[in-house]
Amino acid sequence: MDSIIQRIFDVAVIGAGPAGIAAALAAAETGASVALIDDNPAPGGQIWRGGRNASHHLEARRWLERLSKSRVTLIGGTRVFYAHSGALEAESDHSLWQLLYGKLILATGARELFLPFPGWTMPNVFGAGGLQALVKSGLPVKGKHVVIAGTGPLLLAVAAYLCERGADVLCICEQAPFARLRAFTLGMASYPGKLVETAQLRFRSRRAPYLTSAWPVAALGQDRLQAVRISDNGRLREIECEYLACGFHLVPNLELARALDCRVVDGFVGVNELQETSQPGVYCAGEPTGIGGVELSIVEGQIAGHAAAGRVSSAKRLLTTRARSRRAVKAMKKAFALRPELAALATPDTLLCRCEDVSFEAAQKHATWRAAKLHSRCGMGPCQGRVCGAAAEFLFGWTMDSSRPPIFPARCSSLAAISTPASPAQGHGGSQ
Ligand SMILES: Cc1cc2nc3c(=O)[nH]c(=O)nc-3n(C[C@H](O)[C@H](O)[C@H](O)COP(=O)(O)OP(=O)(O)OC[C@H]3O[C@@H](n4cnc5c(N)ncnc54)[C@H](O)[C@@H]3O)c2cc1C
Repeated sequence: MDSIIQRIFDVAVIGAGPAGIAAALAAAETGASVALIDDNPAPGGQIWRGGRNASHHLEARRWLERLSKSRVTLIGGTRVFYAHSGALEAESDHSLWQLLYGKLILATGARELFLPFPGWTMPNVFGAGGLQALVKSGLPVKGKHVVIAGTGPLLLAVAAYLCERGADVLCICEQAPFARLRAFTLGMASYPGKLVETAQLRFRSRRAPYLTSAWPVAALGQDRLQAVRISDNGRLREIECEYLACGFHLVPNLELARALDCRVVDGFVGVNELQETSQPGVYCAGEPTGIGGVELSIVEGQIAGHAAAGRVSSAKRLLTTRARSRRAVKAMKKAFALRPELAALATPDTLLCRCEDVSFEAAQKHATWRAAKLHSRCGMGPCQGRVCGAAAEFLFGWTMDSSRPPIFPARCSSLAAISTPASPAQGHGGSQ
């Protein structure tokens, strides 16, 4: 039987990426007791993965250093699988955590969007950020031939990272057309910091040709990837490679917000000026409120943290910075919008749901996500639709409008021990 750990905090923050770290530190400044929970062993989220010792990024080191010196209680290697008003249930390897909170901040980040095309489930076809994460965890790529494809600035970040680790990045296939990217670059003149950052990434990945209006059409090979067929400005060609890293932008992790009945607007958690959701006392920051990159995640986290701890004037001082970041993000969204051709890559027998082996054709027969789930088991496997659900939204225009607990697979003993305590009184003292 697992041990059960029960604690009470003034503020609980789920997700120790940039948004969650900034939120936890802002809230802790007031003397509030703050828990920061993340399923990774070390804080940092996707971009600062691996914690302070693994990060070469100056800003990352600064934030992680501050966190290590703060009074924030970091609960790492622990995944929240159930949330109800005033309480969270989370699992680590050998413990069930039952956490009562006064205020909650959701900073659960985003995941990559995978789009199905023939061969996309073949070994050695990865998500772009997924391959980067594997390399950060020790996968050697020196001398490996890699094609990077999809859309958005993440492709450049991944290319730069892999080039520096000795990979031979054969090309970066960006689906957006050149004209859109040129307009975007010109429009970014008022954000010199972003332009410099992009130029640096491109310089670090300069050996890899950057193709626009290019995307993968098929991954080819017997039992593992041997080549990728790409459409390059309307012409098909094949490139031999060992790894294909594909990312068609990011989708927000909304499961906890949905489980708490927070209002979702156009696919993102709706928040007010102070990052508070439609549920009083529940705040949200970072990618779940809009895919905006690290700067926006940090400022939203700070606003949420100050507001949750009752320091509204400190939160309000950051509104101008947030507005500026949001404008830059809007321009980026337009530039990297997915083209309709990407919805036509799958053939009838291409898998859509790889957990339950549901083909594109079998899912397409249905009118809604719910009907497809009930009749084909699409989205009913271990990932609970995190991969195929987002793809189906793009392919068929469906919405995944509900999230049923547990939002992650959990041990039977944890499910049996779930408590439904009343929300603790606001403003109670420290942890116990
Ligand atoms: C795979 C991937 C790679 C990326 N690589 C780069 C890059 O190289 N450069 C770049 O500029 N941007 C990158 N990004 C984008 C970058 O993640 C964001 O710009 C930024 O990190 C967002 O910060 P955040 O705090 O909102 O979310 P995140 O950094 O995603 O942090 C969210 C955290 O919450 C945790 N979490 C979620 N749900 C739960 C739960 N139920 N219980 C416990 N913990 C939970 C997650 O594990 C994660 O650690 C990447 C994104 C992804 C998805």
